[in-house]
Amino acid sequence: MQDCIFCKIVAGTIPSTTVYEDDEVKAFLDISQATPGHTLVVPKKHAADIFEYDEELAKTVFSRIPKIARALKASDPQITGLNIVNNNGEVAYQTVFHSHVHLIPRYSQKDGFK
Ligand code: 5GP
Ligand code: ZN
Repeated sequence: MQDCIFCKIVAGTIPSTTVYEDDEVKAFLDISQATPGHTLVVPKKHAADIFEYDEELAKTVFSRIPKIARALKASDPQITGLNIVNNNGEVAYQTVFHSHVHLIPRYSQKDGFK
């Protein structure tokens, strides 16, 4: 999709900090970190939201999440938990309409994120 920010990140025309990448999925740091390490996981193929997923795309995206979660946890011993958030539709606070899953690391020391 021509005007999609996350398609441009996938294509490399907008820079991002890659956390994980394979042929079908890219994970990169959110530009606005809710907590340190806040990561977005996106399918490389454009899909606006979960309503556009078929089972194959769901498997592609969600099957990668435990591995990416473990990589985040391994990157910092202070990460002792993780929130997984997926907003779908404006009423659900989605602001970028290329489907993505937020991985928000949580720290043993209070991080102030609610
Ligand atoms: P949503 O509200 O749609 O669930 O989340 C969109 C997320 O995308 C927000 O957390 C926002 O900070 C992030 N975001 C928006 N534009 C960019 C960008 O250009 N680069 C990166 N890395 N993240 C972005
Ligand atoms: Zn897109």
